[in-house]
Amino acid sequence: MTVLFGGSFDPVHNGHINAVKSVRDALSPDKVIIMPAYVSPFKTSQRQGASDIHRLNMCRIAFDGIGTVSDYELTKKDVSYTVDTLEHLIRTSPDEYVLAVGSDSLRTLPQWHRARDIFAMCSIAAVSRKSGEALAPYARAVEDMGGQVMMVQTRPFEVSSTELRGLLSQHGDVTGLMPDGVIRYIAENGLYTA
Ligand code: ATP
Repeated sequence: MTVLFGGSFDPVHNGHINAVKSVRDALSPDKVIIMPAYVSPFKTSQRQGASDIHRLNMCRIAFDGIGTVSDYELTKKDVSYTVDTLEHLIRTSPDEYVLAVGSDSLRTLPQWHRARDIFAMCSIAAVSRKSGEALAPYARAVEDMGGQVMMVQTRPFEVSSTELRGLLSQHGDVTGLMPDGVIRYIAENGLYTA
């Protein structure tokens, strides 16, 4: 079994790591693939985001020993749909695939490009982003479209990349919200400063 976890990771944070670790502990997959998404340079500069290479490097630091970071979507230099990435992975590394998502992604999954095809190719492992959040209604919507959802128990780690970009631009304290190695990388490269 291979777990696929994608995102902008702009920047990667302990909420992402907590989510992947919870899925890994629950499912004991053979492989975990972290897939940073391509973000157009226009969008990146608009919201004070980091470049592809910096997001890739930060993921490599953050997920060291947890999963393999793939540059497949980044090197395509075009917005990638999850369905296309899954097709590529299944073709090149056949396995049973599980797509790991946080609750906000679970909620929007039915609207993703070719959602039914995604659900035919993999099952979904969903984790809460907030304590007390009900995942069942979102899971039901996915199941109504033929998807299979596992709700993975986790102690939610409530943080978002948006919040961190805000904090970093104000030189706020991000200790404990992201791995120390990532905090150092951001400082050394002057990322997310307004
Ligand atoms: P942004 O604030 O820029 O929208 P984000 O914090 O939501 O970013 P993404 O890179 O967009 O992070 O998320 C990638 C995946 O990680 C998504 O499936 C999302 O639901 C999940 N995720 C993000 N933050 C958390 C968290 N704190 N707990 C659990 N899952 C999370």
